[in-house]
Amino acid sequence: MAAKPEQWLECLVCHRRQRVAAVFTGCAHCASEGRKAPLEMRYDYTSLQAAVRDECAPGIWRWSALLPRVAAENRISLGEGGTPLVPIRAGGPRLMLKNETSNPTWSYKDRANCLSISVAREFGFQRVFASSTGNHGNATAAYAAAAGMRCLIFCHSDAPDLQLALMRHYGASVFLGGPQAALGKALVARGDWFPSSILCPRDGYANPFGVEGFKTIAFEIVEQLGGKAPDRVYAPVGSGDGFYGVWKGFVELHKIGVVDRLPRMMACQASGANPYVLAFRRGDRKMQAVENPHTVALSIAERIGGDAALHAIYDSGGAALEVDDGRIVATARAMAREGYALEPASAVAVACARRDAAPEYDGETWVSVGTGSTIKWPPTICAGFVRPAHLPDDFSAGQLISEVENESS
Ligand SMILES: [Zn+2]
Repeated sequence: MAAKPEQWLECLVCHRRQRVAAVFTGCAHCASEGRKAPLEMRYDYTSLQAAVRDECAPGIWRWSALLPRVAAENRISLGEGGTPLVPIRAGGPRLMLKNETSNPTWSYKDRANCLSISVAREFGFQRVFASSTGNHGNATAAYAAAAGMRCLIFCHSDAPDLQLALMRHYGASVFLGGPQAALGKALVARGDWFPSSILCPRDGYANPFGVEGFKTIAFEIVEQLGGKAPDRVYAPVGSGDGFYGVWKGFVELHKIGVVDRLPRMMACQASGANPYVLAFRRGDRKMQAVENPHTVALSIAERIGGDAALHAIYDSGGAALEVDDGRIVATARAMAREGYALEPASAVAVACARRDAAPEYDGETWVSVGTGSTIKWPPTICAGFVRPAHLPDDFSAGQLISEVENESS
């Protein structure tokens, strides 16, 4: 196992450092000057010549050399990570799907919550809360249950019943509506609630640790591509933590010499909820909120995201892209016809990659991050569903084959 490098929290704006601690309000120095600025985990990369894995550790803890220091007894794992990287059909470049639907709660949010809940335990917290459209809340609820912690989820009013019921099934208290940002801020101010929230202190509180879990997606992709980074990564972007976390993972592997180049990061949004696309078109480095975000891809229906993810687009030479709901639904269906039940937000990334595909990129390798399963979104999967026909007792094989051929034509 690799020696643990020194680690600290660092402000992404003024670069002041502080020791790793339960700090959930961003950089205090920047706040004193009227700026909201996130703190993130940094490591002494010079002490790590290569990302040596701890093959005996469960789940994503095998990457513990590049994760926040958590004592073995406080590490929670439900067997997250280790997801397949599989080829999918597309014209042009080799397009691979990093299929995150095989995580314990069927989405990549498990990686972030694995880290957050474990860090919460390391700091001695007994209570955790999160704000979610569905996937994140379920991941928080599952990992809190595994840790024996109380869990409270503020959920989006449009979240389907199945997502809400699943959170309750994991034992979480769930609430819709209300002044969620103010309530979250008040819980953090009490000092005994751990926010499994995003990196950038948008609502007055932040969590620097969840992003570290998302990094392991990049670590696995490089491992699965035989030590190389892909040419491009297409990922859906909402709050931006997953997108930024994947980028941070590639950057860290580059710093320690595991990869010799970085991918272009393509931020993929629905045209009904596109703050990154608008900011990127303007060349802005600060996000602006959009009014009334609305899309079938509820997982990424955000008014605004974090600046860190926006900067990752610029720093990587990437782009922010959008597709409309019609194309999202069609792509989700096309993916199902390849055997992959991706949620609409994940189809956004595949749709953007397929639209970009052109013969000039034939030699490139692109990875699309399939962030979550469609299984938790019954309104999408069941749209237009008609209950199958009940066969009469005297139905013949000839009639049956004729029916099947009619259906597939
Ligand atoms: Zn600062």
